[in-house]
Order: sequence, then C-alpha cells, then structure tokens
Amino acid sequence: MQPAIFLDRDGVIIENREDYVRSWADVSFIPAALHALRVLSPSGWAIVIVTNQAAVGKGLITLRAAEEINRRVVAEVVRHGGRIDAAYLCPHRPDENCDCRKPKPGMLLRAARDLDLDLSRSVMIGDAITDMQAARAAGVRGVLVKTGRGLTELCSFVGTPWFDIARDLADAVESLVQIERIAI
Ligand SMILES: [Mg+2]
Repeated sequence: MQPAIFLDRDGVIIENREDYVRSWADVSFIPAALHALRVLSPSGWAIVIVTNQAAVGKGLITLRAAEEINRRVVAEVVRHGGRIDAAYLCPHRPDENCDCRKPKPGMLLRAARDLDLDLSRSVMIGDAITDMQAARAAGVRGVLVKTGRGLTELCSFVGTPWFDIARDLADAVESLVQIERIAI
C-alpha cells in the first residue's frame, strides 16, 4: 500500500475565488505550486486532488465544465514536470448532506479504496479548516497552508490545532520531502 498526498485545489494549487472558479479564465496558479508538484513527482506518494465544487450543485457551472477545469489544471501540472494520479470532485451543495463534501472524508476514503492507499501514512494539504477536519476523519495528517483562505481560517480558528501549518504548498512539500529522506 502506498501513502498519498491529498491536495485541495483552490487556495493550494490555484488561487481561490470568492465567486468560484467557473472557467479556465478564472484559473491562476499559485506561485511556486507548479514547481512544488514537480519536486514531489519522483516521490513514492500517490498525488490526489480532492476538491469541493459546490458551484456545480448551485447551478453556476456544469459538472462537465468543472471536470474540464480539473483536467486542464492536471495537464498544466504535467506540462511543468509534475504528476497528479487522480482527482476527485464533490459537486454537491452543503445542504445536500452528501458524504463526499469536506469536512466529510468521503473523497479521501474513496481514493484509498480505488488506489489502495495507506491513509495512516498519508497527508492532506489544504487551505481550510474543513480540509483539516476531513483529514482527521480519514486518519490522515493535515497541513494547513496560509495561501488562499488559509491565513483567514487560521486567524479565526479557536482551539488547539491538530494539524501542521505551512506557508504554502512549496513549503509543505519541502518539509515532506525532508521527512521522506529521513525515512529512507
Ligand atoms: Mg481550498
């Protein structure tokens, strides 16, 4: 079984948008994210995107268009020497009470079944506390990045964090690669 790095998309790989990423024109890569994914590429981790896209359930964008944006994000990562092994998208609105929308762990659990992943050695990198809650519920270590909504989320967070904190995806990846080197 292989460990995975689960990546939230908006706010981690590409910039978050208040009114949702609705088209390719809305996509803007976070500086150093593509480089970070290239660094991660030769590692032994499966790299899996898990993204909430309630804009689909709200009728603001079709499922097909949302999946097409994901495909193009993945293609851009690959073009820059990176790798994404799978991408999961939750299209539901919060009130639909599905089991895949983060903070629920559904997408992580499904990926674990599909790709035979070792969740206990896996990591979820996200910019929202709900990403960290999904990670905890799946038994995955969480890393909150300060890009996207991260800094705001961190400032309003009350309690003892059960997750790690990184400046951005590049910073998170740097720590993970060091850990892997030590593990080797
Ligand atoms: Mg996000």
